Amino acid sequence: MKIGFNQATSMNCSTLEKDVLLCEKNGFDFIEFRLDKLKEYLKDHNLEDLKKFLAGKKIKPHALNALYTYDNLFADENSEKDNELVKEFIWGCHIAKEIQAGYFIIVPPLQRDPNGGPYIGSVEKTHENCVRILNHLSEIANDYNVKLCFELVGFNRSSVRTVEQAWNIVNEVDKDNVGLVFDSYNLHLYHGLNDFREIKNVDVKKIFCTHINNGDFIDIDKASQENRRFCDFGSVDLNNFLKNLKETGYHGIVSVEIFRPEYWQKEPEWVISQAYKTTKKVMENNGIHLSK
Ligand code: ZN
Repeated sequence: MKIGFNQATSMNCSTLEKDVLLCEKNGFDFIEFRLDKLKEYLKDHNLEDLKKFLAGKKIKPHALNALYTYDNLFADENSEKDNELVKEFIWGCHIAKEIQAGYFIIVPPLQRDPNGGPYIGSVEKTHENCVRILNHLSEIANDYNVKLCFELVGFNRSSVRTVEQAWNIVNEVDKDNVGLVFDSYNLHLYHGLNDFREIKNVDVKKIFCTHINNGDFIDIDKASQENRRFCDFGSVDLNNFLKNLKETGYHGIVSVEIFRPEYWQKEPEWVISQAYKTTKKVMENNGIHLSK
């Protein structure tokens, strides 16, 4: 497997350029760019600058993060909201193609306000919505050779909460460029799940990426993305996650993705080196060879 860095980890303490240089220095194989950091970089650079900057480096870009979908996306023709989202998606796909990032993370409909209560909607309706949404996005992404990584989120504010539910959707869409990303914390957010054997029911060819991280020991019903932490210790059984992942035959990227405000107060040098060391260690402890 390969080791990746997701830019959320250093969200407010670093820049795109700094992230790339520090990730290269620390040994990461891949970096997942966030759209907001790309926008920031492109304020005073252009795409050619970015291509030149990345050329000759060992570190390569992987999935762009992220496109947040909503229930009625592509349900009505000529929706202003849809047009805005499609515009951003195409902008990202174009960049992904140019820098050979190749993948785009797609988040299912969520109730995004942390205090807004649970997501309201049936599994059946969500299935119908997500199949329609992924079919449309797949068609757009195809023109740019971009693959979609559908990312389930386990907490009750999400419409797609389990591996089984996400897999049923991706299976029905049945497009070469539509697959899944498994994020250890997002899986764990489903009632504190720590038995990850369900991921073995998925065709390994459809696991396009994985995100890894641990989390605080707190009441899981109160947990949010800010409770993610490095892979050093925490409430997520990463040994079980990696064991099951390994048993699928997965050889792809394991990318550390953390949204912890505490880390954003630190120096990016510290954050990125800790992220690398702790992720590498948990992988090696589980007999995962980091391929060169
Ligand atoms: Zn993730």
